[in-house]
Amino acid sequence: YRHGQASEVVIPTPNGDVAIGRDNPIAIVAGPCSVENEEMIVETAMRVKAAGAKFLRGGAYKPRTSPYAFQGHGESALGLLAAARDASGLGIITEVMDTADVEVISEYADVLQIGARNMQNFSLLKKVGNQPKPVLLKRGMSATIDEWLMAAEYILAAGNPNVILCERGIRTFDRAYARNVLDLSVLPVLKTLTHLPIMIDPSHGTGKSEYVPAMAKGAIAAGTDSLMIEVHPNPARALSDGPQSLTPDAFDALVKELAVFGKAV
Ligand code: PEP
Ligand code: MN
Repeated sequence: YRHGQASEVVIPTPNGDVAIGRDNPIAIVAGPCSVENEEMIVETAMRVKAAGAKFLRGGAYKPRTSPYAFQGHGESALGLLAAARDASGLGIITEVMDTADVEVISEYADVLQIGARNMQNFSLLKKVGNQPKPVLLKRGMSATIDEWLMAAEYILAAGNPNVILCERGIRTFDRAYARNVLDLSVLPVLKTLTHLPIMIDPSHGTGKSEYVPAMAKGAIAAGTDSLMIEVHPNPARALSDGPQSLTPDAFDALVKELAVFGKAV
């Protein structure tokens, strides 16, 4: 790979710069799958900030399997994320699905997320490679590590050196209990192949909130640089991904448990 030099990505947030990468504390990204309304996103931001998260996540543009499922509130949700950013000081991470939305999302977000379904959307990769905000590149659900790294290479080659790789579970033969198979073996493997920082997403990786704490701990034990965890004030009523979302109380308890695992969170 031509562009594998940055061992950390430094992200300016209202609360100060947050560095994600090898020698830094483990950064936690938390928040709902979708931005639903102002009250819930601000409340979630304040709760996850108090628990120790450094970034708020929340989808404005949602890649849903069914066209009849909630698609996200779009641009108006970006305004709600801005309100949550102002209230909490957290950096904002939100997904961009379409090249046409890159510019507006990059005005609001501190990090642009490329979702698993768009990992090989090459025009989108080139476009986010050609704007200033760091990019969180999720692994495609059936992508090999080499395909994932080459997707990252598109962003790097377009001129953006700030890429974080996010493992979010892959498809295998058994979906009876967990939604995906969270591939923690990427942690030691990627460390031999790239300097890019790594994030593990045990929420999409398992699809069930009760499995999230064990896999978050496993990810830290295996050397992750950062974690993404879905948190919703009322998971039973979430418009997307409720079953895998932790309550703010459960998230707070998990962060306290994670503190005993090596690097300070
Ligand atoms: C998400 O982060 O809400 C999401 C849709 O993730 P993925 O692309 O990993 O499915
Ligand atoms: Mn989700």
